[in-house]
Amino acid sequence: MLIQLPEDVKAILHTLQSAGYEAYAVGGCIRDSILGREPEDWDITTSAKPEETKALFGKTIDTGIQHGTVTVMRHGRGYEVTTYRVDGEYEDGRHPKEVTFTASLAEDLRRRDFTVNAMACNEEDGLVDLFGGQEDLKRGIIRCVGEPDERFSEDALRIMRAVRFCAQLGFAMEERTRQAIRGHAQRLRQVSAERIQVELTKLLISPHPDYLRMAWETGITAVVLPEFDRQMAQPQHNPHHFLSVGEHTLCAMQAVRPDKCLRLAMLLHDVAKPLCLTTDEKGIDHFHGHAQLGEREAAGILKRLRYDNHTVELVRRLVKWHDVFIEPEKKAVRRAASRMGTDIFPLILEVKAADLAAQSDYRREEKEAWLERLRSLYAQIEEEGDCLTLKELAVTGRDLMEAGMKPGPGLGQALQSLLETVLEDPEKNTKEYLLSLLPRET
Ligand code: ATP
Ligand code: MG
Repeated sequence: MLIQLPEDVKAILHTLQSAGYEAYAVGGCIRDSILGREPEDWDITTSAKPEETKALFGKTIDTGIQHGTVTVMRHGRGYEVTTYRVDGEYEDGRHPKEVTFTASLAEDLRRRDFTVNAMACNEEDGLVDLFGGQEDLKRGIIRCVGEPDERFSEDALRIMRAVRFCAQLGFAMEERTRQAIRGHAQRLRQVSAERIQVELTKLLISPHPDYLRMAWETGITAVVLPEFDRQMAQPQHNPHHFLSVGEHTLCAMQAVRPDKCLRLAMLLHDVAKPLCLTTDEKGIDHFHGHAQLGEREAAGILKRLRYDNHTVELVRRLVKWHDVFIEPEKKAVRRAASRMGTDIFPLILEVKAADLAAQSDYRREEKEAWLERLRSLYAQIEEEGDCLTLKELAVTGRDLMEAGMKPGPGLGQALQSLLETVLEDPEKNTKEYLLSLLPRET
């Protein structure tokens, strides 16, 4: 196996080697190179201690000195150079977060999580693959290095990482690794929400967001996202659906592009359905109010997982509006876009399309034609530059005061009502006309 190392990586390896140290490119970059993917970053492992590495390079950053990591800068890019070490950074809250350096590459590779992540390479030795990583890449499986039970006991975050790598690579989980995950999933309770969030996000924006099913089967979601288990347990006896809420959700995530907020919105759009179930006399299930309740649930879940405020807000709004019907006519589309926010209206249409793609064939063509009509109407509205917000209104609060209105809440209401007029008929967005609508002073 020939791996093409970038010139800057070769240069860093040579500098370390010329000073008498061992050095290899390692981990994800080797995995991705073998798979023919462009690695995002190149990590280097070396027998040199951090201080020794720093002494050899002009420009370095102390990224994680306590873990043995120094970032070497070359041509504006950073390369993490880490000293061979034995201990991982254990996340179960009991082990000390300490690191022991070692003189052996083999020891360093042994502490890595999965066989496909435990390969190293340099020009002199070629590929170093001590645990069958190449073979597992060929077979498409994620397997722990060593005893899975031990590896997940050491660091429970690896449980999430295992599923995340399966989703990113389209791989299967090796059977013993899978069983160990099942046995250790509870340990995820000791992992910080931030770190779980990072792995969950990577899974969701991967080419296979539906691999969340694997997290469900192995007991992971029961710990980190129990709301999803509730969805998987909720059938939908309704002509618009042929899948459980959970399976519909997985399907809807696949149907939307890999954007963090869109994938999260699809994950959570129906989160409150199990809480809103009613069954009518014909035996048909309804979920009235699930979008409104879902909005609150979604925000709560995202905050619990420590997502940033921007993400929480955006996803909350997408969940809130995912299900509203909009008349396929310009006026109604203008009103809807104005009410929901022009910043998210196109996203709402994407959410609706993904939701629809995951429904049954019942009235599918009709629903698709409707959505297409909304898209084209909104495109025309944008093209024509119709006023949709108070900012675009031809009059301001100041104009109204100059025309004699008193400051106060009435002013805001007046502006809003003028906006309604303009949403009805954009031609009316002139200062002269709008001022003429104001009640005359007595
Ligand atoms: P990517 O950066 O594409 O997500 P990666 O494989 O580079 O994938 P990182 O999280 O950047 O993953 O970690 C770099 C390497 O460090 C991994 O390939 C693996 O060898 C090792 N590693 C990372 N986290 C752990 C862990 N929790 N336990 C054991 N080894 C780990
Ligand atoms: Mg990486």
